[in-house]
Amino acid sequence: MRSFALMALIIDSHQDLAWNMLTYKRDYTRSAFETRRLEAGTLIPERNGDSLLGWDEYQRGSVAVIFSTLFAAPARKRELWDTIWYPDADTAYRLYRDQILLYRKLADSHPDKFRLIASRKELDSVIEHWSVPVQNGEGHPVGLIYLMEGADGIRSPHELAEWWEMGLRLIGLAWAGTRYCGGTSDPGPLTDEGRKLLSAMNDYNFILDLSHMDEASALESLDRYEGPIMATHSNCAALMKGADTNRHITDRALRGLIERSGVNGVLPLNSFLKVGWLRKSGSRREEVPLDTLIAHIDHICQLAGNADHVAIGSDFDGGFGVQSIPPELDSIADLQLIGTRLVERGYARSDADKILGGNWLRFLREYLPA
Ligand SMILES: [Zn+2]
Repeated sequence: MRSFALMALIIDSHQDLAWNMLTYKRDYTRSAFETRRLEAGTLIPERNGDSLLGWDEYQRGSVAVIFSTLFAAPARKRELWDTIWYPDADTAYRLYRDQILLYRKLADSHPDKFRLIASRKELDSVIEHWSVPVQNGEGHPVGLIYLMEGADGIRSPHELAEWWEMGLRLIGLAWAGTRYCGGTSDPGPLTDEGRKLLSAMNDYNFILDLSHMDEASALESLDRYEGPIMATHSNCAALMKGADTNRHITDRALRGLIERSGVNGVLPLNSFLKVGWLRKSGSRREEVPLDTLIAHIDHICQLAGNADHVAIGSDFDGGFGVQSIPPELDSIADLQLIGTRLVERGYARSDADKILGGNWLRFLREYLPA
């Protein structure tokens, strides 16, 4: 058994923190356990599941860095109770900018708990903090990197200068389809506006997120975009045969991503692991074992011929909670178990550690500005 201080660091490439803070008033300086207690008896567990995230759990699981989304739904896709949605690009712009301000406020009011990362220097300073054991029950600050999920809030390529200035480094063009490209449930290629945006993003070396892109858009982006490319939260379409969705990443896109030195984060969400899985009330017993996630990790390692291109993008609290994940996991603190399972399957400990955080660390160190 490795001691706490020597646990591998986890870098999680997808959490909708701002969206949860705004929609459900969740406070991530609390523990997930405390959030569940406060929300018991409300409508939140039914709508979004019981929370999987909280600062205590980040500490227990050595979750050092999180790609933290800027997210809002387009009007045509919103739920009835949704409060964060946009009818047009101006509203999307304002909603995304407000989420950046919210993350700033979180980091400013709790500098011991959360820090913003927009450069290699800021990344290294957070990682360095985690490499020294904690004193007197204090913890480590969790690093947050903004990730725009769906680019409708960028009103024109000229606006990229302003987003870069605000600290944005990671951009996904799609959630559902956007005016830039085909997305989940909205198949299709890049639009002319999408092609123009990519060429402008290239000037800054923005990191492009392929997750949620339709395959046609993803493949064209792999051909066209010269800057760094990743996929923050996608499972393998090859292992989800029969799923009636374009949400999962195809082998063709994965091969292109691997060729471009990219990394794909996989997510432990039952409906993305087992075709036809639906959340029912009551027990999680008959549900989807963690080994099905390990199979997705292994599939990407087999395609690549190494363990350098897969990581974890949990998407925890992103519309689901503890009711919708493998029963071995109770919160983000348990992601370390993925490393244990990989080692049991014959992976080298060093490869397991890359998958937990090392691959994202290498990728970010290479592509964030100094
Ligand atoms: Zn998503």
